[in-house]
Formats: sequence, C-alpha cells, structure tokens
Amino acid sequence: MKKICFCNLVALVLCMPIIRKTKSVKALLTSFEHSDNAISVKALIKQLHQKMNKTTVYRILERLEEDGIIHSFMDKDGLKWYARCSNCSPGHHTDSHPHFQCSDCGKIECLTFEVKIPSLPNHKIQSTNFLLIGECAECSL
Ligand SMILES: [Zn+2]
Ligand SMILES: [Zn+2]
Ligand SMILES: [Zn+2]
Repeated sequence: MKKICFCNLVALVLCMPIIRKTKSVKALLTSFEHSDNAISVKALIKQLHQKMNKTTVYRILERLEEDGIIHSFMDKDGLKWYARCSNCSPGHHTDSHPHFQCSDCGKIECLTFEVKIPSLPNHKIQSTNFLLIGECAECSL
C-alpha cells in the first residue's frame, strides 16, 4: 500500500487537465519517483535549483497537493515535507497515516497503518500531524 507504481502516477497526472504538463511538473515528479520516502521542501529546492526557482517549486507542490498526488506534513523541526499519496483524489486527501522520522539519518517514511482520529465536540479538525521519532531499520542495526 505504501508503494504505488510511478507509471500510474504519471499516467494519472497526464490525464488530468488541471495539471499542465510543464517540464517543471515532470522534473518535480521525477524527484518523487526516485524516492520511496518523503522529501523535504528544502531538499527539493536544492535538487531542482538548476531547473526552476524556489517559487516555482512551492507553486507546483501546492498544486500537486490540491490534486491529491502528494501530501505534506511537518517534521520534528517544523520543516515541511512531501510524500506520494496512494488513494487520494483532487480536493480530498485520505492520508491519515502517521510518519516516522529517523533521528539518526533524518529520513521520513509514510507508515501504512491508519490512525483513527476521535471527533471532538465543537471542534473542527483541519489537519493532523502524527510523527513518530526513532531509529529507522538501517540505523538501528
Ligand atoms: Zn493524499
Ligand atoms: Zn536512519
Ligand atoms: Zn505520508
């Protein structure tokens, strides 16, 4: 469930009229193709600085998130990260899974179990941020 085929992702994106098939969008999606884990905005900007500026990276990320392709969350330092979605649709994200951040190497994984969020009387929940911090499989060896 964690891994979705990137071919499907590209096909999905190319079918969507909302997303213009710009070079920048493709370059950004390629970054996600090469990573099974989440990517921080900081890392994306660094990775893509020769192809596009910071503002473009932010704009595309925002659009891909609105379209249900990727989701965002904060890491332990309050930095924004993005990861691929598996079953989301435009305007509707169903990612209520927690994320795991390795305190050693810093990488973040999407966890495949869902967290049931209780409904709070008189409160409207807009977003959740559930981050587990520890040592990843490689670092805890
Ligand atoms: Zn999503
Ligand atoms: Zn690690
Ligand atoms: Zn995730």
